Amino acid sequence: MINTLLICGGGSSEHEVSLRTADFIEGQLAESEDIALMRVEMDASGCLTDKEGRVYHIFYDGKIRDEAGNAWDVDYVIPAIHGYPGETGDLQSQLEMFGIPYFGSAPEASKICFNKIKTKMWLSALGIDNTPYLFLHSLEAEELSKAHAALEEWEAVFIKASNQGSSVGCFKVSHKEDLEDAIAEAFTLSSYVLVEKALNARELEVAVYTYGEELIATHPGEVRAPADTFYTYKEKYAAGSRAETFIKAEGLSEEQLAWIQEVSIRTFKALKLKDLSRIDFFLTDEGELYLNEVNTFPGMTPNSMFPKMMQNHGHDFTEYLTGQIRSAVKQSLK
Ligand code: ATP
Ligand code: MG
Ligand code: MG
Ligand code: MG
Repeated sequence: MINTLLICGGGSSEHEVSLRTADFIEGQLAESEDIALMRVEMDASGCLTDKEGRVYHIFYDGKIRDEAGNAWDVDYVIPAIHGYPGETGDLQSQLEMFGIPYFGSAPEASKICFNKIKTKMWLSALGIDNTPYLFLHSLEAEELSKAHAALEEWEAVFIKASNQGSSVGCFKVSHKEDLEDAIAEAFTLSSYVLVEKALNARELEVAVYTYGEELIATHPGEVRAPADTFYTYKEKYAAGSRAETFIKAEGLSEEQLAWIQEVSIRTFKALKLKDLSRIDFFLTDEGELYLNEVNTFPGMTPNSMFPKMMQNHGHDFTEYLTGQIRSAVKQSLK
């Protein structure tokens, strides 16, 4: 049996989303004959509890223990946490220390991708077009004046906390009097803030993952937020979401598809991603393509695109995940 620890929750604004992702993963492994899954939820202080409320600790010997001293070997970990400390790479750093193989990207790649500013610096260095932006390090007058100048030039901007997901800390600003409040709000969530040109664009998402020896970038899917807003937290997850999702974006030219495919694969390789990612793009009304962001642990809620795009590509998620687990564990025993 492969003892697999599914860790969900975590200390970020995406705690609840992570529980839904974990439900999906748990369901995918429920019937497995060789993978024994143990699910624990992490709270904001890092404490791990199971569904019965028992508390656990992970130790350097690669075992998980409850408070009565019972111990289980952990052969593999699925850090199903969006945001801190999963998608940020912090938990993975510990797993590296423990020598436990895990699903998803390593600490360094996770850190780069979870910080939208770092990601953009890498993309620009790689020559990959990404949304025009600048970033602010503080609320000092000089910094704010850069944001005002950007708003004037671009007419509307997106203000984003640099380290968040699920659209938390992400605001569209079209009026100068709203700008500083949005920036101040974003600074409550991260130590740097991104000011991006707001695009009128279609939103495309690509599932990029390794399948055996192959690296796959699926046909892009598309999300369409209602016209009066963008793809906000509410439109992503709340009951009554008005956002529409399409597993297969229609009407893209061969050239556009080829660009997206090439950039997806190149980004995955150059940023040293592992196992899975969802890479998001914008196609503007003028026909320009930009990479928006890289998600190293994409959502897997019932509304989420990643598993559906993989399915549409002809890969069953259960087979995929069990394959990744078996081969990583086999590798770690060498
Ligand atoms: P995810 O849940 O995908 O991790 P996120 O919190 O990392 O999301 P982004 O994907 O960067 O944040 O932005 C959230 C949403 O805001 C996008 O899906 C899109 O609807 C809108 N958006 C972000 N940046 C722009 C932009 N420059 N122009 C137009 N819309 C944008
Ligand atoms: Mg994101
Ligand atoms: Mg995300
Ligand atoms: Mg996104």
